[in-house]
Amino acid sequence: MGTGRRNFIKNTTLYTIGSLMLPRLTYSNMKGTLPKQGLKLTFEPYDLQLKHVFTLANSSRTTTPVMLTRIEFNNIIGYGEASMPPYLGESQKTAARFLQTLNLNQFTDPFRMDEILEYVEEAAPGNTAAKAAVDIALHDLTGKIMQQPWYKIWGFSPENTPHTSFTIGIDQPDVVRQKVDEAAPYKILKVKLGGPNDREMIETIRSVTDKPLCVDVNQGWKNKEEALEMAHWLIEKGVEFVEQPMPKGNIDDHAWLSEHSPLPIIGDEAIQRLTDVQEAAGVYSGINIKLMKCTGMREAHKMITLAHALGLKVMIGCMTETSCAISAAAQLSPKAEWADLDGNLLISNDPYKGVTVEDGKITLIDKPGIGISKI
Ligand code: MG
Repeated sequence: MGTGRRNFIKNTTLYTIGSLMLPRLTYSNMKGTLPKQGLKLTFEPYDLQLKHVFTLANSSRTTTPVMLTRIEFNNIIGYGEASMPPYLGESQKTAARFLQTLNLNQFTDPFRMDEILEYVEEAAPGNTAAKAAVDIALHDLTGKIMQQPWYKIWGFSPENTPHTSFTIGIDQPDVVRQKVDEAAPYKILKVKLGGPNDREMIETIRSVTDKPLCVDVNQGWKNKEEALEMAHWLIEKGVEFVEQPMPKGNIDDHAWLSEHSPLPIIGDEAIQRLTDVQEAAGVYSGINIKLMKCTGMREAHKMITLAHALGLKVMIGCMTETSCAISAAAQLSPKAEWADLDGNLLISNDPYKGVTVEDGKITLIDKPGIGISKI
């Protein structure tokens, strides 16, 4: 065999072996040393301690149970939270049960947010706060990977954030006056009504401040004529709008009231998800969007867009929450007409710091994701 032919065979053999072996080796190496990582979801229960006993039209309490979540991917951690005031039906137990069923490890690309959150949505009905805890953590994670805060990713101007209202619960006059004092930095106060002494609450607050007020009745008024009479009285007292005056199922009564009331009527308990927004048009003047009701930032963003398209105004609200869920909601606040994001200010054991309120105005910071850090 001549040298030429030997070289030909050698080269051909190498080439053949190479072409057979190389892809296999590469694939095997990829599999062996660079496994495709999935998202890792972990969660832990946490009890928020409230600074004051919190009294609404139908209940009062001193703690709020929450579930803190983390989604980890390539050593980056996104934080989330489910806040579950007892009257809404979720608990640390239901949230744990729901979150345990999720297998986020099957997702190896956190940016497939539609796919991931549709999977979470379809895992079980309800569980809106637990779903929000996943949504918020996923937004925090992807924002951190992109190294941008979500208000920037959405293209919102941070100077457009509204003032946040500060909530004054139903209480005795001396406590109410003390709470108004504590609320000194805030430009607008949200007064909880629907108790037995509504006019006394307003008169007490008016005896110490002339700040703009809004009122939240939490479905506490039972008939529309009485509600209309109160709306006329409240506008004289410097009130700017009334939130959920009557039981959420009284759609015709709310539509009638919105038509006759001198004050805007805002739906809160009646509006949970994106699918409720269309129905709100013609019944309310605006809607209160909360991440815990609507499963998180992704759906809240869609709700704001739809509400504005239907001519509805938007309030972005909250439960008592840590700075985690509050900072997540705050990312959307430049697009809201009103904000009620004081939930973190009502608790004494916030494990995070994030968005701040300066001179009553929500102040977004240029920090990626939802812009929080652990204390
Ligand atoms: Mg409300």
